Amino acid sequence: MNSTVDAPRSALPAQLLKGQKALVTGANSGIGMATAIGLGRAGADVVVNYVADPDAAGKVVEEISSFGVRAAAYQADVSQEDQVTAMVGRMVEEFGTIDIMVANAGMQRDARFTEMTLGQWQKVIDVNLTGQFLCAREATKEFRRRGVVPAVSRSAGKIICMSSVHQLIPWAGHVNYAASKGGVLMMMETLAQELAPEKIRVNAVAPGAIKTPINRSAWETPEARKDLLTLIPYDRIGDPEDIANAVVLLASDLMDYVIGTTLYVDGGMTLFPGFATGG
Ligand code: NAD
Repeated sequence: MNSTVDAPRSALPAQLLKGQKALVTGANSGIGMATAIGLGRAGADVVVNYVADPDAAGKVVEEISSFGVRAAAYQADVSQEDQVTAMVGRMVEEFGTIDIMVANAGMQRDARFTEMTLGQWQKVIDVNLTGQFLCAREATKEFRRRGVVPAVSRSAGKIICMSSVHQLIPWAGHVNYAASKGGVLMMMETLAQELAPEKIRVNAVAPGAIKTPINRSAWETPEARKDLLTLIPYDRIGDPEDIANAVVLLASDLMDYVIGTTLYVDGGMTLFPGFATGG
């Protein structure tokens, strides 16, 4: 193993997901983009879902294709039932099946409580929670139809929900977002319980503060960075690749006995760092 900072990335076995087909929602930006690339680097064929900015999605497809696997960009709004059904149907038609669904797409529409409109509340619930429900449901139908193919994977399929530390940590001024991620936690655990007998593994990754466009204001200026770092015992802001690595591992058979778990990838943010010196 080399000793560069890239080591954890390049150390992932290149063919860990060989022969598997993955779909990543919201894969033309931030965590979804890094995850789609990580899955492709690990040998999976990848569908790159996007809702806007096809050029960005095209670049992700190009990079994934350079690993010698298959990739394509599909447009769909994950909060729309007909679009999600059509997207998964198209993947089954064009790629043969789906083995890994990464329900990653998400958004924020922040406001103090009494200023938050019903539209802001509803939009975030629709995308962050209902979108994951729809994607998980459509993928499950295909996992069930196909069943286990031992040469590909020990399980019939994997669903990985992109949650957040805010499935646990309350977040003033973001009640729609925190409620959506709290919902993802119970949805994920309930699905894991319901689907495990069918050899379908459902898990979540809960990122802490990761440098992406969704939270630019939290890391863009030196003052904001300093404030943010007080919440992170490991004293660095996360990179999208930190999350991608966790997803690749969770999706692989190395984690075949991991069911209904949330993997926090947060530099220790959920360890209540204020208590290190107080309490
Ligand atoms: P991002 O804004 O870079 O990416 C979000 C992606 O979701 C974009 O590609 C966007 O177009 C897509 N999207 C939004 N609405 C959609 C819709 N209706 N249909 C399809 N795609 C849609 O932000 P990110 O940080 O990469 O966020 C990815 C996920 O990670 C989200 O679920 C977010 O809640 C979660 N997360 C991020 C952080 C962080 O610190 N960045 C922390 C915790 C959780």
